[in-house]
Amino acid sequence: MIEVNHSKIKETNRKKIIALLLEKNEITKLDISRILDISITTVSTNITELKNEGIVEDVRSLESTGGRKAIAIKLDENCRYSIGVALTPNHIKIALVNLKKEIIENIRIRHKNNGIENLITIISENIDFVMKKYNLDSEKLLGIGLSLPGTVDFQEGIVKYSYLLGIKDFNLREKFEYLNVPIYVDNEANLSAYYEFLNRKDIVKNLLYVSITDGLGLGIIINGKIYRGDNNSSGEFGHIKVSINGKKCKCGAKGCLEAYTSKNVLVDSYNEATLEDISDIDEFEELYLKNDTATKKVLDKYLKILGTGISNLIMLLDPDTIIIGGDINNILNDKMDILKKNIYKDNLFTDENSCTITMADFKESYLLGAAMMPIEEFLEIK
Ligand SMILES: [Zn+2]
Repeated sequence: MIEVNHSKIKETNRKKIIALLLEKNEITKLDISRILDISITTVSTNITELKNEGIVEDVRSLESTGGRKAIAIKLDENCRYSIGVALTPNHIKIALVNLKKEIIENIRIRHKNNGIENLITIISENIDFVMKKYNLDSEKLLGIGLSLPGTVDFQEGIVKYSYLLGIKDFNLREKFEYLNVPIYVDNEANLSAYYEFLNRKDIVKNLLYVSITDGLGLGIIINGKIYRGDNNSSGEFGHIKVSINGKKCKCGAKGCLEAYTSKNVLVDSYNEATLEDISDIDEFEELYLKNDTATKKVLDKYLKILGTGISNLIMLLDPDTIIIGGDINNILNDKMDILKKNIYKDNLFTDENSCTITMADFKESYLLGAAMMPIEEFLEIK
């Protein structure tokens, strides 16, 4: 028992020191000892270890007050990396990130969604390319985080169901085990929620992230942790019913919220109303920015249903913060006031000022969230 406790304390000290080094550019051992209230001997032992592992390096002598010179140390942010991979119905996105969350390499590939095995081959080839280019081995690469739409058994790395990718009970982790690094598989809305949370964890504990992409997802953070549900299928916000016998949803059921609020709905509704044939959300956005009347009408209707959905979330969970993100941020940005009005229109139970509803700070936060999984595990800040 005592053994275990000792190694736990040792590990905690190490992580605290790494976290401090990440925050400060250069620092002396004495200052680390003072700031963290850890004995100078323990600090020295840890720093020696970290130096041996290539994580920390001496930088230069600093003038200390006693006239003696002290060596400052610095964390080499490029000593370890992580790779985030996002799999969407049309794209594979890969980001190599260092310990300071800086994106070192960013790859995106358009694909035709012609089978998961094909997609895995493309991902593997690109991971191999990045690892060769940056000379990464299983020590330098902390791990890989994979983001995708669908329900995921996070512990096992198994995709339970993703109709957008056409897979069910699919062990995705297994496919990358040959890399000999930790592999994390998670739902895109969970990862977006997680990334937005990491960047405001000093101010919030609970947060909901509504993700508008090809589907409609929800990431739930409760007390700083992703809430996954007892069967890994929490947050299927897109498939709550808003209409009996309503529009057909891609999941196969009818009347799901997603059938009225995924980004493609804007494109389809526009084409239906105008008999035009625009092909994607970028075209819709372009028209909207040119003050096209039809886009405005479509958007008004869309915001009413989205507002109803988010209102239901507030009724159910009474959250402190709701972040809306995904692929239509530019369009929603100047519509937030209208959306908020729609959200609170029939809600007589909660105070409008008790929940902060805001647009996401980051684009593609699911990709960065995926990349942060191995890093946070390494730093054990989560
Ligand atoms: Zn559905």
